[in-house]
Amino acid sequence: MVDVETQSILVVGGGMTGLTAAIEAAEAGREVYLVEKNPYLGGRVAQLHQYFPKLCPPYCGLEINFRRIKNNSRIHVLTMAEVESVSGQKGAWDARIKIEPRYVNEKCTTCGKCAEVCTMEIDNPFNYGMDKIKAAYLPHEMAFPFRYVVDPALAKSSQGQSVKEACQYGAIELDMQPKTLELKVGAVVWATGWSPYDAKRLDTLGFGAYPNVLTNVMMERLAAGNGPTNGKILRPSDAQAPKTIAFVQCAGSRDENHLPFCSSICCMASMKQATYVRAQYPDAKIYIFFIDIRAMDRLETFYADLKKDQNVTFFKGKVAKIEQDAATQNLVLRVENTATGSLNTINVDMAVLATGMQPNSSISHQPAFASRDDYGFIAAQEVTPGFFAAGCTRTPINVSESVQDGTAAALKAIQSVVRR
Ligand SMILES: Cc1cc2nc3c(=O)[nH]c(=O)nc-3n(C[C@H](O)[C@H](O)[C@H](O)COP(=O)(O)OP(=O)(O)OC[C@H]3O[C@@H](n4cnc5c(N)ncnc54)[C@H](O)[C@@H]3O)c2cc1C
Repeated sequence: MVDVETQSILVVGGGMTGLTAAIEAAEAGREVYLVEKNPYLGGRVAQLHQYFPKLCPPYCGLEINFRRIKNNSRIHVLTMAEVESVSGQKGAWDARIKIEPRYVNEKCTTCGKCAEVCTMEIDNPFNYGMDKIKAAYLPHEMAFPFRYVVDPALAKSSQGQSVKEACQYGAIELDMQPKTLELKVGAVVWATGWSPYDAKRLDTLGFGAYPNVLTNVMMERLAAGNGPTNGKILRPSDAQAPKTIAFVQCAGSRDENHLPFCSSICCMASMKQATYVRAQYPDAKIYIFFIDIRAMDRLETFYADLKKDQNVTFFKGKVAKIEQDAATQNLVLRVENTATGSLNTINVDMAVLATGMQPNSSISHQPAFASRDDYGFIAAQEVTPGFFAAGCTRTPINVSESVQDGTAAALKAIQSVVRR
């Protein structure tokens, strides 16, 4: 007889890696608990406009995964949840999970009446704070689970009651409390992914000081149809179409003072984003300032194709400084051409900083025994018997590599609970 507790698997992180690990393990017959701190699954991929290299919308892949979850009663999804502690050994892990209140229960039909009466607004986390949303909100229109969230500030305010009364289904529970869940599982997959490196730390590049300096993750949202400008790429300062855009590679990456490593993804991400700009503005001029272009294997073709575009200039040089023309809010880039040694001044309407992927394992809580490498990644696949790391928690990788790594972790986790 199968012992459900010792054979079940806890997956922490519901991005592409964790989703894959959870689904593969459940479809192979394991009971799986998938713990995600956001109110929805999908991780950073849910916030992308298109995937390289094929430039398809990320929701193609995510939707299939969500359907697989809906069809599998072995997967128990816990959103707004984090692991407070995990201890034990292979076949016998004890995990304590903290679940934050959503203030909205499963009766929610997403009718939106709560948002209609709500006047309180918050920064929209899905769009990296580039716009505001009501404090009673659906995280985004493809969110899974497809259910509203009430911000704690609204739940605790005097307006909370009127928002509750607007819901005719009794879905809003203002007295919802944080919950703690004690789980016993046989194996753990840790897939907590990455965060964009904090561009405010790059003090010479003007992020936060100049409105037309963005980061690459913000550019994804700007191009997305469900983003803050409904998919139109516009300068934040004046909502005008940019005529010249600079992509600043290695913004904080391969730099001892910031992220010493290469995230391996940012070159491809910027080249992909150059295609977003070119699709909307056929006359726009694009500069890509780089140290080296990293486009390995099949991705090399994408690079080769973009190089043929007369409006895209690949400039081998490091952007040392970005300044702003106060009158126009245009940007002035000081760049050293590393091929010739010449110093250049280049004016653009907008700049996108290609910031790297900082492992969440370097900035948030994880078990003390999960040792990290010099860059903050939990690099080992099997951290200790029965505990596995996968995806961008382990190393910076793209989506197809994350899927492979999540699948590998599922297999290892299954083996560890079966072979004991
Ligand atoms: C600008 C940019 C563009 C990109 N574009 C592409 C592209 O076009 N094509 C491509 O193949 N790749 C692209 N990538 C890479 C892609 O984003 C990653 O491969 C992918 O996000 C990795 O998935 P993951 O699940 O490992 O991590 P994540 O997507 O970060 O998912 C991790 C999940 O874990 C959750 N989590 C974190 N901490 C905890 C915790 N303590 N408890 C519970 N849950 C937690 C997070 O909320 C998140 O949902 C891009 C990357 C960047 C920077």
